[in-house]
Amino acid sequence: MKITVVGTGYVGLVTGTCFAETGNEVTCVDIDVNKVKKLSEGQITIYEPGLEKLFERNLKEDRLFFTTSLEEGIKDAEVIFLALPTPPGADGAADLSYVLNVADHLGKIMTDYKVIVDKSTVPVGTAEKVTAAIAKNCKAPFDVVSNPEFLREGVAVDDFMKPDRVVIGTQSERARKVMGDLYAPFVRQGNPILFMDEKSAELTKYAANSFLATKISFMNEIAILCEKLGADVDMVRRGIGSDERIGKRFLFPGIGYGGSCFPKDVQALVKSSEDVNYNFKILNAVMEVNETQKLFLLPKIKAYFNNNLKGKHFALWGLAFKPNTDDIREAPALYIINALLEEGATVSAFDPEAMKNVRQVVGDKITYAEHQYTCLENADALIIATEWSVFRTPDFNKISAALKNKAIFDGRNLFETGRMKELGYHYESVGRTPST
Ligand code: NAD
Repeated sequence: MKITVVGTGYVGLVTGTCFAETGNEVTCVDIDVNKVKKLSEGQITIYEPGLEKLFERNLKEDRLFFTTSLEEGIKDAEVIFLALPTPPGADGAADLSYVLNVADHLGKIMTDYKVIVDKSTVPVGTAEKVTAAIAKNCKAPFDVVSNPEFLREGVAVDDFMKPDRVVIGTQSERARKVMGDLYAPFVRQGNPILFMDEKSAELTKYAANSFLATKISFMNEIAILCEKLGADVDMVRRGIGSDERIGKRFLFPGIGYGGSCFPKDVQALVKSSEDVNYNFKILNAVMEVNETQKLFLLPKIKAYFNNNLKGKHFALWGLAFKPNTDDIREAPALYIINALLEEGATVSAFDPEAMKNVRQVVGDKITYAEHQYTCLENADALIIATEWSVFRTPDFNKISAALKNKAIFDGRNLFETGRMKELGYHYESVGRTPST
């Protein structure tokens, strides 16, 4: 099948590459001239495990193309995916201007039947808006399908190649057949393709992300309670996670959810609810908990340093909003950096993949270490913000030799509190008794 993917970011590049991997001819369109140039020359633009190999292979075998021209990109394509940004607008609602502008443009240039697929996360009713925007100028037949994407950054290729489910919202038999054929290679193990109406598909994505964010905020509040009552959140987590109705996954407390999806999607669902005069009470609380959780470690750090961080220097391990990605959108680490700088402290940071992106945002307000251990030099304490595997079993001798105080503030509960006590660290984490 000939496919076009409009928007070649995290979702678009993974979608395009994975569809090429199953034999389709894919053209990815992006307005970012630099990005398209790099990708056409074989340089990958994001870090995502496993993606580079597939990208190189499909580029070499002429199944993957890149262009800045929408006209050129959709020539002969049967299916056009929209993987465009839907950032929060000033009022929290998803900004649909990227999607609707491209839809408008498509209407002016489409000359034969095409399936237009909303892969971006979009509020209920967007398929209707996209249909109207195309129809304004288009004489050719077309169908608009909602096909929300559930991939997780860091394991995006695996998630795309073997999805738990594929959700397709359409009431058109013709589009249903096209989408079913396209996704058939990805569900051979028997995971379902769930066909439904467009609105239900659109809401499914928001409901999924909001439910997961709720799980995180819930566990973060349980962790707070654990600290106040002297319980251990690791034990509580295991205790409840063994119940199949609850499940083991997504129960880890920490310093809040970040990334480009959860914060904006929860906010957008709250806004959609307000628009139909419904106050989504739980989600308002989920957001409130997350806001405070990002700076959960700060009072602990301040208390350790007698409420005065002026002139203190901190090593910060982890900048990405989660491991195995270079994505720093809404990363808790950025909030910690700002708070420390405001307190008059200085920061040296290390992240295996995200330093380039942070440098673009934070600039030289902090220093960037080449290695996780050089990051520690002259630091008064170590703060951990992302649970990269390389941080899990560090050389504690190197850490204590470099730090001025044997103090670690861990926002991801990487180490056992008992072990840290044995090693003589002042160790504070989330929802567990500190060791001193
Ligand atoms: P992104 O910012 O990484 O990529 C968007 C791309 O679109 C950029 O490369 C940008 O240059 C390009 N673009 C902007 N306007 C354009 C235009 N007019 N024509 C062509 N290209 C244009 O965003 P993303 O993370 O890939 O997210 C895209 C959508 O997918 C969002 O709605 C997001 O909520 C959703 N989503 C994201 C994830 C994720 O993990 N990142 C997962 C599921 C769903």
